[in-house]
Amino acid sequence: MLDMLLALLCDFQLHAGTWVYDVDRVCAQTRMCPRCGEKGSRVEHVVSGWKSDGSLEESGYCNRCGQLQTRAVWPPNSHRR
Ligand SMILES: [Zn+2]
Ligand SMILES: [Zn+2]
Repeated sequence: MLDMLLALLCDFQLHAGTWVYDVDRVCAQTRMCPRCGEKGSRVEHVVSGWKSDGSLEESGYCNRCGQLQTRAVWPPNSHRR
């Protein structure tokens, strides 16, 4: 029964599995769902020092790849962590 429910999650693209970085200093991540074997990829930057310039955006450099990233400040919590 639980298996069926979990399989249903996969149908809705809610896969399990842990995102891992492919290579050092590059921000591409991949994961494989342990339930259905679906592979996914995404880009996840790691910025520790967000700085606001007074507008509704703040920016900071990614610790891994060094790219400048920006995110919206408003509404609060709209960004992914
Ligand atoms: Zn899955
Ligand atoms: Zn990055």
